[in-house]
Amino acid sequence: MREQSVSLLQQLEKNFEEARPSYNYAEAMDESNRCLYCYDAPCIKACPTGIDIPSFIKKIASGNLKGSAQKIMEANPVGASCARVCPTEELCEGACVLNHSTKPIMIGDLQRYATDWAIKNEELLFKAGKSNGKKVAIIGSGPAGLASARELARLGYQVTIFEAQKEAGGLDTYGIVPFRLPKSVSLWEVQQVEDLGVEIRTDVTVGKDISSEKLVKEYDAVIVAAGMAKVPMLGIPGEDLEGAYDAIDLVEKTKTNQYPENFVGKRVAVIGAGNTAIDGATSSVRLGAEEVKIVYRRTANEMTAYDFEYEFAKQEGVQFKWLTSPKRLIGDENGRIKQMECVQMELGPAAPDGRRSCKEIEGSSFMMDVDIVVKAIGQERHHQLLEELGLVNDQGVVTINQETYQTSEPNVFAAGDVIFGKGQGEAMVVSAAQQGKETAYSIHQYLTSSVTESV
Ligand SMILES: Cc1cc2nc3c(=O)[nH]c(=O)nc-3n(C[C@H](O)[C@H](O)[C@H](O)COP(=O)(O)OP(=O)(O)OC[C@H]3O[C@@H](n4cnc5c(N)ncnc54)[C@H](O)[C@@H]3O)c2cc1C
Ligand code: SF4
Repeated sequence: MREQSVSLLQQLEKNFEEARPSYNYAEAMDESNRCLYCYDAPCIKACPTGIDIPSFIKKIASGNLKGSAQKIMEANPVGASCARVCPTEELCEGACVLNHSTKPIMIGDLQRYATDWAIKNEELLFKAGKSNGKKVAIIGSGPAGLASARELARLGYQVTIFEAQKEAGGLDTYGIVPFRLPKSVSLWEVQQVEDLGVEIRTDVTVGKDISSEKLVKEYDAVIVAAGMAKVPMLGIPGEDLEGAYDAIDLVEKTKTNQYPENFVGKRVAVIGAGNTAIDGATSSVRLGAEEVKIVYRRTANEMTAYDFEYEFAKQEGVQFKWLTSPKRLIGDENGRIKQMECVQMELGPAAPDGRRSCKEIEGSSFMMDVDIVVKAIGQERHHQLLEELGLVNDQGVVTINQETYQTSEPNVFAAGDVIFGKGQGEAMVVSAAQQGKETAYSIHQYLTSSVTESV
């Protein structure tokens, strides 16, 4: 029995290893030499962090891998993670001029080649600036918090990050599946920031272990980079049955080698069709589920997952059940899920935000046989924290001055997923990183000039 469990664990560990291999030397040389090193390169404009792409590619071609990694990480403090998780075909690679003739330069793969070199060689790429005597507190150590911390440290600020989790890195460390983004890559980016003298106090939840009032009082500026919270409840009967999972918790288990062993041979329904649903579904496949279905109330046209994620899920054998909404989970005599009652939906006209409404088709109820239900219908907001800080917000989306990232409290700024939503921004690692950088420059401006304006 024990032997069986050990070999299952080994199999699961293998299933969650990084799926795509890095380029080898010859592949990196071939690909980097294909680049036209365009003047006024459109790929740079398409990168939210403005990485000088032709320049980092040229450095690879000339064998200067440290210089290449520096170019990438200079513009994007989480450039090693982004090499793996950015929707490149919608960003830099989508803009590459070679789309018109052959195929775009594989910018993400080259970015990974250069940053992997820096990781392997344990290179410290940047230095802290001369101390200016000012202190900034950051709530959250995800891409937004890390990017602002790094830039502030380079400008000479004493930076302390408060992080609720045991390890830093936010969703890069805990939320994006390990076979796309290993935790070690994210932790290397964290180390790069810590090596600049930034203090990261992990296992400290602001609002519980330390008050937000204290931070506002003791620091010259505070950045709220707390991201979003857990997956909300579906609000249907049976959610407390055994076999119901929150997709973010599930991925977190796979990132921390605590693989649930009860997925083997099971039928899994994943509710939702965004990033989180795809990660929940592909994780379920790798946990050994026999059948994984994504159940979504709209269609493929309305799903928020990226195209590359959709394709990846299909390749992994995930099935999609469109225009279907769950109504009730039904348990067996031991309190374990055995069925899910669903209804058929139909699409209605587009709402003002362009998204089509949908409604139930009367009398369309039917049963699905399932053993496990993974909930992945978005993320909740940090209402309590925002309330404690007294920040103006729209249902948990922090209101900011779009240019300065300043909130309704003059010395409190916000970046990343806390400002995403209500038609504002995109929930992507690369946008959180760019917002983090811009917030750092804005705080520098705020603390070094006397005239300031809040929202
Ligand atoms: C499952 C999943 C898959 C995704 N896949 C992709 C992808 O492939 N590509 C992509 O670009 N984006 C992806 N995203 C989105 C991306 O991860 C986020 O947009 C990005 O991480 C946001 O960065 P952030 O720094 O704002 O927040 P986060 O990364 O969420 O970091 C916030 C940090 O704040 C901490 N925190 C929260 N409250 C407190 C508190 N009170 N006190 C102290 N610390 C606190 C949290 O513990 C967390 O570490 C995915 C998201 C999910 C959920
Ligand atoms: S657009 Fe394509 S070919 Fe031109 S510099 Fe960028 S990656 Fe190279």
